[in-house]
Amino acid sequence: MRVAVLGAGVVGVTTAYQLLKDGHEVVVVERNQGAADETSFGNAGMIAPGHAFAWASPKVPRILLKSLLDDTQAFRFRFRADRAFWSWTLRFLGECTNARARENTRRKFTLCAYSQTVLHETVAETDIEYERGAGGLLYFYRSQESLDRGVANRGILVERGLEQEVVDRDRAAELEPALAPVKERIAGGVYCHTDESGDCHIFTQALARKCAEMGAEMRYGTTVDRLEVDGDRVVKAVTDRGDVTADAFVLALGCQSPFLLRPHGVKLQVQPIKGYALTVPIDGRNNPPRIGGVDEDNLTAYTPMGDRLRVTAKAEFAGYDTSHQPRDFAKMLSVLRELFPDAGNYDKANHWAGLRPMTPEGTPILGRAKQSNLYLNTGQGHMGWTMSHGSARITADLIAGRTPAIALDGMTLN
Ligand SMILES: Cc1cc2nc3c(=O)[nH]c(=O)nc-3n(C[C@H](O)[C@H](O)[C@H](O)COP(=O)(O)OP(=O)(O)OC[C@H]3O[C@@H](n4cnc5c(N)ncnc54)[C@H](O)[C@@H]3O)c2cc1C
Repeated sequence: MRVAVLGAGVVGVTTAYQLLKDGHEVVVVERNQGAADETSFGNAGMIAPGHAFAWASPKVPRILLKSLLDDTQAFRFRFRADRAFWSWTLRFLGECTNARARENTRRKFTLCAYSQTVLHETVAETDIEYERGAGGLLYFYRSQESLDRGVANRGILVERGLEQEVVDRDRAAELEPALAPVKERIAGGVYCHTDESGDCHIFTQALARKCAEMGAEMRYGTTVDRLEVDGDRVVKAVTDRGDVTADAFVLALGCQSPFLLRPHGVKLQVQPIKGYALTVPIDGRNNPPRIGGVDEDNLTAYTPMGDRLRVTAKAEFAGYDTSHQPRDFAKMLSVLRELFPDAGNYDKANHWAGLRPMTPEGTPILGRAKQSNLYLNTGQGHMGWTMSHGSARITADLIAGRTPAIALDGMTLN
């Protein structure tokens, strides 16, 4: 079968790879000149089933309200005159109950854990090098109160099979020697030895090259303008560089995915949630972190990636704008300087902002669209690097008529 994959972020490229393994003829259509140049470019790099919590939870509405007055909040809400945004926001608020948060977290964890096994298979098959950090991830808390609350919340992941170690500050500093000089500032944490990290951009570009070697046609610099539909089938993707025909199409356009479906009467609930990242050179500096981690009370994540340290924070409900100002990074920089004062050359940090393609539930949208040969693979939100490999395999399974390895409840258009 000939399959057109629309979008070459980590989701599109992993999908192309799984389709090629199934023996399909694959064409990948991407508006940029290479793979992973948008959201998949600068993420925190965490492969983190141990952090698979749904963002929509009972405490979030209050934080969003507060953020209208205080723009240092980790979650920031900005008013927008956009009907799709308000429809999404109402659905997001509807997910902010204990029961919905628990269900969404369960589903996310199942997909993340499955996806990690698929990632390991892909790495074994391709030998891709991507600054992998396989030493686990450390989630730490500043106060005993937040540690106790965090450990209690994590019960839902442990019930599903997550292996974790609750650690005091001494053990945290043993696991992460870079924290030893500041260990009095933390109460303790949770160490997930099976969580890991790596550079999503390097991985996706390498996998895209592998796909080309396996025979995929990579059409870079090509923007999909619309889908042409006949009856219940998509017949072609109309692009600025000619039509792309195929037997099946996979929509993997990240935050842009809803725009192609809207003319066909489908309101895909995916909105951009902006995040910020610093990439700091650590070459030759003192005591950089050995493993990735999250300062849970400041919602700041950091990951060593070879001779760089990636740091990310913030979730802004602010539309499709990816611009950034130095003040957007001030808080995360001060957290970083406090924790790891001499770990990197902070004056030479690279600044970046990206848009997480989020659904209200935090789980992606997979499976068929209204058209019988159009498959959705989008909405992986803040965990798309973690979830992409499993989402890709599931999409390939569905196209091949196989039953996916995990249940898709709550993850399809219906
Ligand atoms: C600050 C931050 C930190 C994050 N940290 C993590 C993390 O630690 N772990 C984790 O698992 N996830 C993380 N994520 C989330 C993860 O990065 C995303 O979920 C993932 O990159 C989404 O991949 P994607 O392929 O869906 O989207 P994208 O990477 O945006 O890919 C979509 C592609 O479609 C292309 N496209 C769009 N419209 C068109 C069109 N009309 N025609 C042709 N091409 C088009 C775009 O150019 C783009 O290349 C983070 C995200 C952010 C912003």
